[in-house]
Amino acid sequence: MARSPDRPISVCLGDFALTSLSDGTYRLDGGAYFGVVPKTLWSKKLPADENNRVLSGLNSVLVRTGDRNVLIETGIGNKLSEKTAQIYGQPAKLLEGLHAAGLAPEDIDIVINSHLHFDHCGWNTVRRSGTIAATFPKAKYYVQEGEWKHTHENLRDGVSYFTENYDPLVESGQMELLRGNAEIAPGIFVEVFPGHTRDMQAVFIQSGGKTACYISDLIPTSAHLDLNWVMGFDLYPMESIASRKRYYARAIPERWLTMFTHDPETPWAYLEKDDRGKIVCSVESTAEKKNEST
Ligand SMILES: [Zn+2]
Repeated sequence: MARSPDRPISVCLGDFALTSLSDGTYRLDGGAYFGVVPKTLWSKKLPADENNRVLSGLNSVLVRTGDRNVLIETGIGNKLSEKTAQIYGQPAKLLEGLHAAGLAPEDIDIVINSHLHFDHCGWNTVRRSGTIAATFPKAKYYVQEGEWKHTHENLRDGVSYFTENYDPLVESGQMELLRGNAEIAPGIFVEVFPGHTRDMQAVFIQSGGKTACYISDLIPTSAHLDLNWVMGFDLYPMESIASRKRYYARAIPERWLTMFTHDPETPWAYLEKDDRGKIVCSVESTAEKKNEST
């Protein structure tokens, strides 16, 4: 069962409050989602429908630091063409969730996109009286410069980029293009993890000695934790595996809260190795999830 966007889930991380928001769910081809992994294996974790598609979430995270409201990722949005909306649906729930969390678009100070595929930055902009405008008028937006350049190369994943989600913001100066790892605000920084795209960035949140990480499409759901279960969508699968190794080497011993971009049920979890060395969500995070939903 998918989570309700009307009931955002929150946790504290040191002095910060993290709220999981959702733009709704959509369906992706299960084969593309799991690359070379046989369907007999992945379908045990995520069942496919009659068209071989699996249910996927569109998870954003709102970080309230005390003096700033930071929004990580903006879902699919509400500007899809009729044809694209027919394929994926267009739930467009994010602003409802933001409202339920007590905020209006004007309250967002910072928007960070991990990368610019259409299902990660759709609510960056809206169509208003025939032009494209920033959904979050007071926010500064951030993405990697290499990612933005790649959107104009029209390579294998060219169909996943819609320029209206970001070009107007780059032109107006509202979107800042980063060159590599950077601190965005105290306790909020980005680090590049290549694989899904060359310049996809993860977002780190640190407060009170605790760390959370929005790892985005490097580990899209809790069904993708196996080091080698990388997506068919990934442009550089061997780099995805290397990036995951680099991530797990710190995320597990340092107990980072891992945030999943496309998991329809589990927005975040702590990771650990089980007796057989497999990477799994810790029992503790499953228990926390139960508490949150009650
Ligand atoms: Zn992507």
